[in-house]
Amino acid sequence: MATNETRSSHGRDEVFGYLCRRCLKCCHHKNIQLNPYEVARLARNRGLTTGEFRAAWTDQRAGLVLRQTESGACVLLGNEGCTVHPDRPLVCRLYPLARHVRADDKETFFHLEPHPHSRGTFTRSGTIGEFLTSQDAHAFIEASDDYFRWLCAARRFVNQAGESEHFTAADAEAAIELLDMDTMVARHCAAPEIAESLDADARRALHLRFLYQQLHDAVS
Ligand code: SF4
Repeated sequence: MATNETRSSHGRDEVFGYLCRRCLKCCHHKNIQLNPYEVARLARNRGLTTGEFRAAWTDQRAGLVLRQTESGACVLLGNEGCTVHPDRPLVCRLYPLARHVRADDKETFFHLEPHPHSRGTFTRSGTIGEFLTSQDAHAFIEASDDYFRWLCAARRFVNQAGESEHFTAADAEAAIELLDMDTMVARHCAAPEIAESLDADARRALHLRFLYQQLHDAVS
């Protein structure tokens, strides 16, 4: 979610609270980037496969992002608010916080500058950790970190192989397919006849196992 950040960084124990008044301003003019777990949660919410969801609701633009309407609203915003609330992406759960994670797993939070006409207010009613729990953010944080670690490993592999200058359109297509959870889980469960779990977290674990297997196969 591209929004101005304040400079100071914070940890989970720091005092923080935010009272959302459902003015819906924060669902406009944002780049909501999605990882494969978030796509899977949103796709299930809509009764679609991840490939169908990507085709219907997202654009590939420096990563996979949710589309916006002509007025800049998120395509998943309805008259009464978010239409996918139980499955909304991590950045929507964190708002008005941003979370940064380094390759060594160090985590920091930053306060975002709210929309100038937002009716939400900051409070001092809890901690950042409690805010994360209230937003049911933990599975999404875990998924975000898992895919980030895999991307770091993939980048190390590409750098070592010296292939970064020869990344072709076909490679980009292959990478997009690799990150499509339903395609990869179905493909890898088919041959050894592994039963496909419908649970999003179990499918994430399977997907990541296969992603690491691909890296391992590419290295050896
Ligand atoms: S996914 Fe929901 S909460 Fe997030 S920007 Fe879209 S409408 Fe708003």
